[in-house]
Amino acid sequence: MNDCIFCKILAGEIPSVRVHEGPNAVAFLDVNPMAKGHVLVVPRRHWADLASVPVSEAGDVAAFSELMHTVRAIAKAAIRAGWDGANVLQCTGESAGQTVGHLHFHVIPRRAGGPVPPAFESGAGRYESDAERDAVAAKLREAIAAVFAEEQLY
Ligand code: 5GP
Ligand code: ZN
Repeated sequence: MNDCIFCKILAGEIPSVRVHEGPNAVAFLDVNPMAKGHVLVVPRRHWADLASVPVSEAGDVAAFSELMHTVRAIAKAAIRAGWDGANVLQCTGESAGQTVGHLHFHVIPRRAGGPVPPAFESGAGRYESDAERDAVAAKLREAIAAVFAEEQLY
């Protein structure tokens, strides 16, 4: 993916401040941090977003597992390094605010008493009725069951 900015970072063609390099996942500081210590965790494999992660090959599943464990470990490490907590943020799709088309997780260290983390407008998706809520849940349940069946998960 020669036009992908994160592939270029992974290849060393664009500089980055790296904080972790694993066989399948790399973490570097966000160039425009939401807070000091804001890290981006990216797979070495070019996957556009969460919906694009292939799960039929064991190598991809292992790479994705390493990515998720890297996110977990970096949140833990932020607390070990003196922060009090961390937000983990992932944007899949432009509608969700994704601006770079190479899967990445944001790990944003937080301090007690610091600025309130971005609140994605709690309550903005309030349902008109219990019936509407149940219809949304049913739609999601059906799609989730289809994905699990298709991917033979559990
Ligand atoms: P998104 O909105 O896609 O979830 O987040 C993309 C993130 O990538 C943004 O937080 C942005 O600051 C960061 N970013 C974009 N270009 C670069 C770059 O060249 N280097 C680094 N380190 N971060 C970048
Ligand atoms: Zn890429």
